[in-house]
Amino acid sequence: MTNPNIKDLTIHEAHDLLKSKKISSAELTAAYLDNIKDKDPKVRAMVTITGELAAVQAKKADERIAKGEITSLTGIPGLIKDNIATKGVKTTCSSKMLENFVPVYDATVIKKLNAQGMVMVGKANMDEFAMGSSTENSALFTTHNPWDLARVPGGSSGGSAAAVAAGETVFALGSDTGGSIRQPAGFCGIVGLKPTYGMVSRFGLVAFASSLDQIGPLTRDVTDCALVMNAIAGHDPKDSTSSPTTPPDFTKTLGQSVKGLRVGIPKEYFVEGMQPEVKAVMKAAIAKLEELGAKIDWEVSLPHTMHSLAVYYILAPSEASANLARYDGVKYGFSYKGDTMWESMEQTREIGFGPEVKRRIMLGTHALSSGYYDAFYLKAQKVRTIIRREFDAAFEKYDILVTPTSPTIPFKIGEKTADPVQMYLSDVCTLPINIAGLPAISIPAGFAAGLPVGMQMIGKPFSEPTLLKAAHAYEQATDWHKRRPVL
Ligand code: GLN
Repeated sequence: MTNPNIKDLTIHEAHDLLKSKKISSAELTAAYLDNIKDKDPKVRAMVTITGELAAVQAKKADERIAKGEITSLTGIPGLIKDNIATKGVKTTCSSKMLENFVPVYDATVIKKLNAQGMVMVGKANMDEFAMGSSTENSALFTTHNPWDLARVPGGSSGGSAAAVAAGETVFALGSDTGGSIRQPAGFCGIVGLKPTYGMVSRFGLVAFASSLDQIGPLTRDVTDCALVMNAIAGHDPKDSTSSPTTPPDFTKTLGQSVKGLRVGIPKEYFVEGMQPEVKAVMKAAIAKLEELGAKIDWEVSLPHTMHSLAVYYILAPSEASANLARYDGVKYGFSYKGDTMWESMEQTREIGFGPEVKRRIMLGTHALSSGYYDAFYLKAQKVRTIIRREFDAAFEKYDILVTPTSPTIPFKIGEKTADPVQMYLSDVCTLPINIAGLPAISIPAGFAAGLPVGMQMIGKPFSEPTLLKAAHAYEQATDWHKRRPVL
């Protein structure tokens, strides 16, 4: 690279510069902290900026590099969604309930990133407890889309996505329960991967819906996505749902051809309510894949997919209602001191939780209550199995399925806050994937009205290498991922 702009790098570009000692991690980190100072007052992606810690970590990384002990993420600035536990650094879940909560341990993913010598620049804003699609449910403040500050960055990992797009960090981690990595990645014009359920440890991720939650990377390109996966994937005895299989080298398939790749386009994902400009971008993107040698089948049908939204909004709130029962003001987090135990508990939850979180707790408690359990929860579990089997059958014929990440372009701040169902609909294309436990990636596929549009590629369990191969081939044939918002 000639004359590198160190304020605008991917992981692999920064790594090359660090390795060849053209720059130091201290310089790189200072440049990104500078970007944060410049841009975050407009974007508002950061709940906490860990400038001092970052400087210390950068110094340590430089010492490591001097000894020749460099790995892909050594000395690279990263940002962490604020529902991932960071020892000694506030982890708020963008909730009043945990506004001053400081974990006493690191999540497994943080331990792994630290082992590589990552530099943490801060914690990212999100929808409260990861419930939402726009970051407007953050109890702290709303994050803005760097491509148009009047619009949402998506959610719930909106802070992570906006910060990567704005160049406030080189990469970020998010979490995805129903779309929270992919939808904001799509809205912000970057790459986001939801790994196969069990691929990445959830230990230290604040639980929302445990059977759906996964941590994953938000990056500027597909190569970076693979590099972060190499760092965070793998079995963890501390997470009983983590897969015992040894993860692959996620960079292995990058650069391979997609000739003959069997690509299915499920027609149910090109639904009514989908914006025509999104459809146009998708058509062009799929044509590009075909040009690269992929075999496209437009006639795939996943008829039960249309029930995913209903299934999700029974299962996710049910699990959430159980997971969030722990916030009673006794052990940690916000605590209201009332005259009686009941008053304390009630007021802790009344004041500590925002409206969307309360809505989910009520939905879940209702779905699980005696007399309704069979009609709602049990039935939803059965439909979940059907949805999963439908995907299994599709993957006998196709290597990947391709859909839009979201049916719309990023909407205006405030546009959907009055109507929760409209907000829920922005995840119609991503929810089914969590229900089935599959991996899926969102990559930049074009622009509509000057705003990014994401393409989702879905694979069978543990097929991340295939997804990354297809995503990388498309990326290399296009230049959407090189565009940057002007701030
Ligand atoms: N938007 C969905 C919800 O509100 C998904 C959120 C997520 O993936 N964390 O539940």
